[in-house]
Amino acid sequence: MKLFSAIHRNIFRIISLSAKRIQQDCYVVGGYVRDFLLGKKIYKDLDILTIGEGIKLAKEVSKHINPTPRINIFKRFGTAMLEYKNHKIEFVGSRKESYHLYSRNPIIEIGSLQDDQKRRDFTINALAISLNERNYGELIDPFGGLSDLERKTLRTPLSSDVTYSDDPLRMMRAIRFATQLQFFIEKSSFQSIQRNRNRINIVSMERIIEEFNKILLSKKPSIGLFLLYESGLLSIILPELTLLQGIEEKNGYKHKDNFYHTLQVVDNISQEKINSLWLRWVALLHDIGKAYTKKFLPKIGWCFHAHELVGSKMVPKIFQRLKLPKGEPMRYVKKMIQHSYKPIVLIEDNTSDSAIRRFLFDMGKDIEDLIKLCIADITTKNVEKKNLYTNNLFILLERIKKLEERDRIQNWKSPISGNDIMNAFHINPCKKIGVIKNFIKESILEGRISNEFHSAYFLMLKKGEELGLKKR
Ligand code: ATP
Ligand code: MG
Repeated sequence: MKLFSAIHRNIFRIISLSAKRIQQDCYVVGGYVRDFLLGKKIYKDLDILTIGEGIKLAKEVSKHINPTPRINIFKRFGTAMLEYKNHKIEFVGSRKESYHLYSRNPIIEIGSLQDDQKRRDFTINALAISLNERNYGELIDPFGGLSDLERKTLRTPLSSDVTYSDDPLRMMRAIRFATQLQFFIEKSSFQSIQRNRNRINIVSMERIIEEFNKILLSKKPSIGLFLLYESGLLSIILPELTLLQGIEEKNGYKHKDNFYHTLQVVDNISQEKINSLWLRWVALLHDIGKAYTKKFLPKIGWCFHAHELVGSKMVPKIFQRLKLPKGEPMRYVKKMIQHSYKPIVLIEDNTSDSAIRRFLFDMGKDIEDLIKLCIADITTKNVEKKNLYTNNLFILLERIKKLEERDRIQNWKSPISGNDIMNAFHINPCKKIGVIKNFIKESILEGRISNEFHSAYFLMLKKGEELGLKKR
């Protein structure tokens, strides 16, 4: 094909010649072909299929690259991977697969090109481009993948029920591709996902979440989140979210549908090149406490008192269940949800500088993310209200920035150290040091003294005296 970029032409030529030398046919398959035909430019992962041994072809290819690259061999799977000019090239031998009921790991036999194309998840992923001399560049498309690319449709090469039941991860992949590519899942295929949803239980959580995170990291995550909901998969993976669905009305009071609201907040936060996975998780989970705090108060309406506190406390268990990282990302998500209402309270209370300093102290460098979340959380259709709320948040952010510039609270470090206190009073480590340090911190946050050594030192002497300490 003339349209390959120079670098890909070069790679394919080496692979083609190597395959010829060991007399094994070979093809480019998978995501590269799909994305190439979609006109996407940058593609770093190449899947090479050979009718024979993948490892053998990889070894032959490596001989023709200077300097010789290291080959990663996965003997158990009969695959090999090497890196060349920033590309990851994976070699796999063609296979025919059959499945057990309780596992998504197939029994593998050597197969033909057709057998291999049949085992692939979607017609658009089952396209192959020949790298053989006799038909170099020819597209081999036994299942109508090209026309599905044009119709923006995800369709399985074989019966959907068999495809999804054999390897239920494909249900997640269908929804992930539908989200990334903004494609439709063929109706009967989607119905099959609905029928087979419980089969997802044989897939490891790590693999489910890998796909889920790709959905969350796409341009418009709500597409996938909605499909997960409609398919019934979401209530298996993350029931905390589906519980938010629904609107209740009482005495003329209505509350919003917090599930659809959440989807919109996730989309909002996913705009403007904000691509932090964990901020998207915050947006996704920011209202989960609402299902457990919902109350109707006569004459006031629906209340979700302290939902952000309840929601943030749910985070560790959810992260554990979904096998998401325990450390910093979890703490970040929990903290962000816990404080998610704080900016609104600060705005409504027309707050003092000391409250903002405390907020800066609690949030540290994450304060800007929190304001972004609050802006994304404004989903009212009333334009006037929307502008007013957004503007208030920008004004708050300006105030925060000014205070930070002056008082430097964000990366808090006490101007007086424990050593300073021990030296001043000639004492050993003891409780009183903590008391003095805390008093200094509180005084700075309250604005009674400025955040610098001299004022803090003076205050330390005073507080030390009160505690019965004597300056040496
Ligand atoms: P991307 O790399 O952009 O996520 P991809 O289509 O290349 O998309 P990979 O996971 O890299 O996806 O897989 C490469 C190819 O292997 C796919 O295009 C598909 O043909 C096949 N494949 C991967 N996983 C499965 C699966 N669970 N069932 C069937 N075929 C699969
Ligand atoms: Mg790939």
